[in-house]
Amino acid sequence: MKREKIIEGMKMGIVAEAGLIAHGRGEAFDYLLGEKTVLEADLAEKIAAYHLLLAKNPVVSVNGNTAVLVPDDMIKLSEIIPAKLEINLFYRNEERVKKIADLLRDHGAKEILGENPDAEIPGLDHKRALCTKEGTIEADVIIIPLEDGDRASALKKMGKTIIAVDLNPLSRTSKAADVTVVDDVVRALPKMISYIEEIRKKEESEDMMKSGIADFNNSDNLEKILNRMGKKG
Ligand code: ATP
Repeated sequence: MKREKIIEGMKMGIVAEAGLIAHGRGEAFDYLLGEKTVLEADLAEKIAAYHLLLAKNPVVSVNGNTAVLVPDDMIKLSEIIPAKLEINLFYRNEERVKKIADLLRDHGAKEILGENPDAEIPGLDHKRALCTKEGTIEADVIIIPLEDGDRASALKKMGKTIIAVDLNPLSRTSKAADVTVVDDVVRALPKMISYIEEIRKKEESEDMMKSGIADFNNSDNLEKILNRMGKKG
């Protein structure tokens, strides 16, 4: 079903050709995880929820693949935090941006940033750098599912707290992020949403969340996942 959505998304001009290849890379790593949320991913999802709940100006970044795979979850995540939803494309063209925005609106998104960029991320070439002041520039925490390494590193250099969702624990994005969720975005977003709901229900204090974050070590977590992949799941 995921493959079909990605292929359909490409035919509709929403997913870039390179998005097909990226999806294939993701599938390969997912096989090595046993196509399930492993313990380390579950932990990263909880830590991501803490970051998002403590953030002052969180942003959820959407691209073509995530728009076709998880439009409802992206919208729900942005609503419950609440966080701004911003379209950010590696292969940006205005037609694709508009199609993604329309798709998100069809799924109920009320406010979407990125159609009219008014800022640039320093250190990237023009098209990849385009973003909004209200979104990326002012964000303290930004969640970037299926991101490319250059953008992830540039965001890190800007001092953002980065949450990546990336099935490849070896990617530059995974290494640059503060929290890397090595899980399929289709499983990761619903899990993060339910962690946010659970943390609120349990009324976990800010201090508890901060100490959870302080105890988390992203490189150790990535190392454990790599070992797990070597042992097949
Ligand atoms: P980097 O630039 O970070 O070193 P890259 O060149 O692979 O890595 P992209 O092509 O932008 O950068 O990567 C997209 C990433 O998303 C890939 O690492 C791929 O494994 C991952 N990916 C693809 N599909 C999914 C998915 N459904 N869920 C989670 N991750 C995925």
